[in-house]
Amino acid sequence: MKRIDVAVVGAGASGMLAAAAAAREASAAGKRLKILLFEKEKTPGKKLMSTGNGRCNLANRNTDGGCYSGDKAFIDAVFASFSPDDALAFFRSVGVPVTDDGSGRLYPVSRRAGAVVAALRTECARCGATILCETPVERIDKTDGGFILNGEYHARSVIVAAGGDAGLRRGERCGAFGLLAPLGIVSGERYPCLCGLTLGDYPAALKGVRNISIVSIRADGNPVFTEKGEVQFNADGVSGIPVMQSSLTVSPLLRRNAVCRLSLDLLPEYGEKELLSRFSALAERYPGVPAEQLFGGYLPKQLCAFLMKKIGVSPAAAFPAHKAAALAAQVKELSFPVAGTADFPDAQVSGGGALTRQFRPETLEAKNIPGLYVTGETLDVVGLCGGYNLTWAWCTGYAAGRAASKY
Ligand SMILES: Cc1cc2nc3c(=O)[nH]c(=O)nc-3n(C[C@H](O)[C@H](O)[C@H](O)COP(=O)(O)OP(=O)(O)OC[C@H]3O[C@@H](n4cnc5c(N)ncnc54)[C@H](O)[C@@H]3O)c2cc1C
Repeated sequence: MKRIDVAVVGAGASGMLAAAAAAREASAAGKRLKILLFEKEKTPGKKLMSTGNGRCNLANRNTDGGCYSGDKAFIDAVFASFSPDDALAFFRSVGVPVTDDGSGRLYPVSRRAGAVVAALRTECARCGATILCETPVERIDKTDGGFILNGEYHARSVIVAAGGDAGLRRGERCGAFGLLAPLGIVSGERYPCLCGLTLGDYPAALKGVRNISIVSIRADGNPVFTEKGEVQFNADGVSGIPVMQSSLTVSPLLRRNAVCRLSLDLLPEYGEKELLSRFSALAERYPGVPAEQLFGGYLPKQLCAFLMKKIGVSPAAAFPAHKAAALAAQVKELSFPVAGTADFPDAQVSGGGALTRQFRPETLEAKNIPGLYVTGETLDVVGLCGGYNLTWAWCTGYAAGRAASKY
């Protein structure tokens, strides 16, 4: 049996922070611990590399429990133990200063996710934490005085930092929950979050269109979400930041069989009456211009063509002025039934996961299994889009690593 002090399952965002924290804390106490990170992939931080479109939106200036779905008191208590500002100080210390994009989203100054991964790897190496790649943990057994991993490694403490089900290969699922269940840790069923929505009565012809809109969602007739931003139209539905944010609300509602409808206000800067008068004036001034072209100064052509069909006007024919009211109404409220969400591979995070009530928020240690810690996406907490999920990974990872080093 190989003996180690701290085993970290997963060399992703929270796992690398956990290993670095454990090593730093031990070194501050004049100790040197044997810390091993087990990583199933060929390289550490694979998901991290694709964050923020390769630029890594690693935090947000405005972060508190209200930016997450999950137990807000638990989340705030985690941040009281290791705060988002502490995480930024950690990144400065490893040579990754951040910059604001103007909306509060924080990126590495280099705008390179690869630089973040490289800095974390370098810090783990400097601290003496070893990363074992292509070494999946398939089993964790509790013993007196610690845990046995894969029947081969005896660790005094274990940090499960194995992520969730999102962003993996098609058909692949995260093994974390199968490792935790035999230890008695209860996890909620996972569902895709921060992802696009698939829509009913939706034409594939809209694929490729982008438009700034207000996205509103009603569930069983009640308004549950609204946000303005760029909507991307795909082959089977919509995505873009406001839609991804809405998935945090919609995904759990759909699982409870709520009937959800998405509405788009395609021209938020104008009221319906204003649009009616503008559209009527255009129709009168240019009677011979094809309908799909006439409103090109307002909306993309593909979207105009679709709206024309919806109000019973041939896109290639002249626009009849008496249809201006119907067009204005559609522009202000284009509505579709929500059929579902995109699947896990196309989602940024998975909801569900190990229920937080089983853990101490200051340390992320399991209340009933001393020496076992769970971090990041493996926990039942999901943040909004905008750097909040990585913040959660950094803060839970550091708090757990720091505590595990003392266990
Ligand atoms: C495309 C995409 C873009 C994103 N962009 C952003 C963004 O810009 N900002 C933001 O805040 N969040 C973003 N996220 C979310 C963010 O990446 C995650 O919330 C975060 O990485 C979770 O950290 P984690 O440590 O819990 O898990 P991960 O970073 O996923 O790390 C888990 C690690 O564990 C390994 N592992 C799993 N099981 C085992 C096992 N049994 N044995 C050994 N190793 C195992 C995995 O291979 C992985 O390396 C994005 C996600 C995706 C998919």
